[in-house]
This record gives sequence, C-alpha cells and structure tokens, in this order.
Amino acid sequence: MNIYGKSLEDLEKYFTDIGEKKFKAIQVYDWLYKKRVNSFDEMSNIKKSVIEKLKEDFDMDKLSILKVQSGKDVHKYLFGLADGQKVEAVLMNHDYGNSLCVSTQVGCNMGCAFCESGRLKKVRNLETYEMVLQVLMAEAELGCRISHVVLMGIGEPFDNYDNVMRFIDIINSDYGMAIGARHITVSTCGIVPKIREFTKEKRQVNLAISLHAPNDELRSKLMRINKVYPLKDVMAAVRDYLKVTNRKVTFEYIMLKGINDSDECALELASLIRGMTAYVNLIPYNETSHIEFKKTDKDKIMDFYDILKKSKINVTVRREFGSEVSAACGQLRSNFEEEK
Ligand code: SAH
Repeated sequence: MNIYGKSLEDLEKYFTDIGEKKFKAIQVYDWLYKKRVNSFDEMSNIKKSVIEKLKEDFDMDKLSILKVQSGKDVHKYLFGLADGQKVEAVLMNHDYGNSLCVSTQVGCNMGCAFCESGRLKKVRNLETYEMVLQVLMAEAELGCRISHVVLMGIGEPFDNYDNVMRFIDIINSDYGMAIGARHITVSTCGIVPKIREFTKEKRQVNLAISLHAPNDELRSKLMRINKVYPLKDVMAAVRDYLKVTNRKVTFEYIMLKGINDSDECALELASLIRGMTAYVNLIPYNETSHIEFKKTDKDKIMDFYDILKKSKINVTVRREFGSEVSAACGQLRSNFEEEK
C-alpha cells in the first residue's frame, strides 16, 4: 500500500484503528507534502513504534522519470510505473502559475478518432498514489509550485471515478498540497451517469466537457461515447450540474480542419449552449504523425471565435503548448512504446 494514495481521512481512520490519536495523520501529511521527506525514518516527531508500524503497512515508493522533454514554457514527463507501464504529465508555465496536466489511466478505451491516447487501449486504471506522485514529482523536478491541475492527460477520469476523487481530495487538502478546488479541472468525454454523480458531490472543482461537435451525427463519428450518451443526455446532465452547483462549465472544442470548423458548426454550437453559464475553449488541434486529422488554420479559428462572440457565447482560444515536445495527449507514451 503506497502512502501517497491515502487521503487525510483514510489516514485518520488508520491511526484510530491502531489505537493512536488521529492528529498523527496531519503530522504524517506535513512530512509527506510540506516537508517532502523521502523516508518514514525522517518523520522525527512521530514515535519509533509508530514509524515501525507505518513501515510495515505502507511504502513510499516513487515513480521513475523515464524522460523529460522541455520546450518554451512546457515540460513533459514520461513516468514509469512499478509494473513497467508508462504515463505522461505535461507542465505548462502560464502567467497565472504552473499547471500540470495529469494522466488518470494507462491508455484509454473511449476511442475518440482524433486522440492519440486511445490508439493504445486501456491497460488499467491509475491508482490514486500514481496520480498524486505525478504532481509531487513534477514539482520536485522543476523546483517550483504547481498551482493548477487539469485532469486532461491520458485516460478518462470518470472511468476511474473513485481513485480520481480521492486524488482530488489529497491534492486539495490544506494539510497536503493545498491546491485550491477552483484550480483543479476534471475533463470528461461525457459519461452521463458520472456527470450526475459528480453533480451530487457539489465539489468546487471545475468541470470541462469534451464536446468537439455540435450535433450527434458529427459527434458520433468523432467520439464513440456519443453513441452511448448522445448530446441531448450530456446537455441535460450539464444543465442539472449548473442548476445544482451554481458553477460554470467549460466546453472543449478541438478545431479539426474541414471537419467541425465551418460557420454552420459555429452557429449550431452557439444555439446548443445558448443560455448556459458556459465557456467554450477552442483548442488548436495538436497534429500527430499517426492520425490523419489536420489543425484548422489560425484565421479560420478566429472566424469561428467571432461567430461565437457575436452570438454572445463566452469563448477563448487555448494557447498552444508543446507541439514541439509531442505534448498531444498520449503522444509521448505511444511514440516511446513504438521506439522500443
Ligand atoms: N478523457 C477526457 C480527458 C482526457 S483528453 C476527455 O475526453 O475530456 C483531454 C482533452 O484533450 C480532451 O478534450 C481531448 O479531446 C483533447 N485532445 C485529445 N487529443 C488531442 C490533440 N491531438 N490535440 C488537442 N487536443 C486533444
């Protein structure tokens, strides 16, 4: 059992169960996440017998860093897991802080046509500690604080729901990394029952929906999940989310040349989300060598943007990061697997 997978609550219960005071959990968190020690023996305010018990019950093994690629304002990490699997995380320097894009699964089964991650099918879910360590180790490697976390790396977060929620609890804890809930964004391709479950939790975490098309015909061609949960179900779940939580939602929309970037698509998108407290984030497609989609030209992206703006939709164009370091979701891992 890796200690980095334990929420503060889990550890409090652990200490109570072994007949110790539950505040020890806070002390251990302090050593793990504030002082960042690498062994239980360094936890000097915890008595020897408890240290021994901790050593018996937990390990604090790290991931290995197999590769770091850096470009302007972007660092990409390829992590090796204990069983030999690999995942990626991408750190981006923004003017508002550093954000880390974290993976949630090894591979992905959602099968979106444009996405590199899905080319290699899901091998397994990531354990909570494997997500926590992506953040801790990227911080250590870079020597700076990560202020924002986006769950937009390899995998579908809502297909690994419980581990992902515990991960969020850990990085959000004031006694842990204290990354504010509003600085954490979970992105889903639209697994409706999980959007509904997430709604009930009333977390302050941001929700992003990968939309990528304004109608079922096109969306089903791009995203297999749309055949299971069509747009009207996704939009109904999002409407309920907005009503219950009083928050905003972000719709991600990758701009694919000649596929979903026409004026008609922009108008259709505007009418789909009109009246919702929502942002549209237009994403310049990160071309990969394996997939035939091309990115929409800058001018055309701006035309699309203008149409949405004129329709009174909140819209931004995502800054491009890391095409020089193959930062497209899943690219480093799949290139690496092929080089072998
Ligand atoms: N499975 C989740 C989160 C991982 S993907 C989801 O679908 O939202 C994170 C975002 O990156 C998604 O919006 C996804 O569609 C997008 N994406 C995938 N491949 C991309 C590429 N080559 N260029 C740009 N964005 C990409």
